[in-house]
Amino acid sequence: MIVIASANGKVGIRESMRVLKAGGSAVDAVEAGIRLVESNPDDHSVGYSGLPNLLGDVELDASIMDGLTLQAGSVGAVKNYEHAISLARKVMEELPHVMLVGAGAERFAKELGFPEKDLLTPEAEAIYRQIFEKKIPDVYAHRMKYLDSVKKWAHVAADPERPNETTNFIALDDKGNLATGVSTSGWSWKYPGRLGDSPIIGAGNYADNRYGAAACTGRGEMAIRLCTAHAVVTYMRMGMSIVEAGTEATRDLAYLVDPYFGGVNIIAMDPNGNHCAFSNTKDTFYVYMTGTMDDYIETPRVFVDTGDEGRKL
Ligand code: ASP
Repeated sequence: MIVIASANGKVGIRESMRVLKAGGSAVDAVEAGIRLVESNPDDHSVGYSGLPNLLGDVELDASIMDGLTLQAGSVGAVKNYEHAISLARKVMEELPHVMLVGAGAERFAKELGFPEKDLLTPEAEAIYRQIFEKKIPDVYAHRMKYLDSVKKWAHVAADPERPNETTNFIALDDKGNLATGVSTSGWSWKYPGRLGDSPIIGAGNYADNRYGAAACTGRGEMAIRLCTAHAVVTYMRMGMSIVEAGTEATRDLAYLVDPYFGGVNIIAMDPNGNHCAFSNTKDTFYVYMTGTMDDYIETPRVFVDTGDEGRKL
């Protein structure tokens, strides 16, 4: 049994492994680990204390996929419920659907008795205010919510210095089942209602016991356009090793014409628990923990140079 996660999954990976050791499934393990990241007030990219959208509202996206059944659940643009990953799991298990967004997802959370919570913390609000005061004339910065048109400020979400992340977990349980979970508050300062790759099955999340699993963080628009998580699994299906598959999927990014070309990071695992992670940004890390380890190890991702090609027409 093994769990891997993006570096901010450190706060949850031990719990994820504890669940596996106690006989929990891979799906149980990824949900348990991600819930702790979602509750971490110091992580401004996931769940409670996530950074808000352009209007100052925190909107969460999450997805979960079971590699045994290929069942999946996801939620997008959910406000006021901390554990988007648990809501995504409930969509998978209790509805004949894969994805719920916005008001429908919130209604479902309410029906299930999920506790409501204000997700915007003073720390996250202070970061929002500071950035907006720098980038946007003061006359607008304090009343974005009341403006009829905010589209001209959406480019602020593409600022390369803008803080962001997401959490990814992949677990392999002792029955040989894989599961993948992803949770995020998405791109900070995004246009309201914007969904990234995290809730899109195939883009930010994919698991198939037969071939492997993968999950992404980074500029979600790029992973959506290339179905990056599914691409990694497909490349493994075609016979590539995990390193070849992740490298190829990262190299694909270079083909994208994109004025906002940015970083995309992948974690991946094959059905035997071999794992690797990839990024087109230097010096990035991920964590892993097996059933025989006392604690997780943090290790570098493979850097794949996608150059500047993506920016050119
Ligand atoms: N992939 C996430 C999104 O596009 C954000 C991130 O990982 O930085 O919403």
